[in-house]
Amino acid sequence: MKVLAIVGGAGRMGQALARGLSALGDFNVAALVDTREPPALFGAHFFSRIEDLDASSIDVVIDFSSPDGVASSAAWCATHGVALVVGTTGLGDEHRAALEMASKRVGVVAAANFALGAVLCERFAAMAAPYFERAEIIELHHDAKIDAPSGTSIATAQAIARARRAKGLEALIDPTTSHTFEGARGADVVDGVKVHSVRLPGLVAHQEVHFGSRGEGLTIRHDSYDRESFLPGVAIAVAHVDAKRPGLVLGIDSLL
Ligand code: NAD
Repeated sequence: MKVLAIVGGAGRMGQALARGLSALGDFNVAALVDTREPPALFGAHFFSRIEDLDASSIDVVIDFSSPDGVASSAAWCATHGVALVVGTTGLGDEHRAALEMASKRVGVVAAANFALGAVLCERFAAMAAPYFERAEIIELHHDAKIDAPSGTSIATAQAIARARRAKGLEALIDPTTSHTFEGARGADVVDGVKVHSVRLPGLVAHQEVHFGSRGEGLTIRHDSYDRESFLPGVAIAVAHVDAKRPGLVLGIDSLL
């Protein structure tokens, strides 16, 4: 049975994972690490700093905290030979570099979305991409999400761009020439693939990929109605990752 520490253990995802992973029976959630006290412990111990963990008793650190939290988790896991699974989004170049560094010493899996339907949404979008003239993404999340656009929508836009390039297709050019209000056409994430971000209370995590060609359209939609949706993907990543097998797996598509 793998013994786990969850960084960001007091947060919405940390609490959902602590409850869900413990209930699966294959994992022992031994530690919740957070800068604030968790509302519930689910049998784990609380630590306010990752440095206070006993590395010899932890197999995998799961990080759903903040980009700075990811940098600390990556450094600690590399130093102590502990595997790492990262779900935190909004990572910058320096945080990605920290993950690359850690992955030279231990196994690391990082994914912007652990929901299996979201992984398939990206896969199907890449399949459809070369066959349509235009593609735009609308991502919708709860209003406490601090980063935009979502990591999932960035990864989906990149997958669409890769699939188009592989068929020799050019970057998309926005046909709109007049903007009455700045931002109306969303963010140009890669090769002209636009992403529009919606933030509303009541939502969890949702994404629509819209494709259009003359006379037809295709919409691929995924909904996470509850944070439980991320549990199977995190469990797959935790089961796969191994401190003794260094390397960085980005996204869980290859693990399904
Ligand atoms: P949240 O704000 O509810 O929880 C984050 C927790 O991390 C908080 O309790 C906070 O105190 C703690 N924290 C922040 N910095 C820390 C640090 N340096 N050390 C220790 N603890 C720290 O947020 P959330 O909704 O649980 O989401 C957390 C992250 O997970 C976000 O980046 C979110 O986008 C991402 N997320 C990813 C997926 C996925 O499938 N990959 C799914 C949902 C959310």
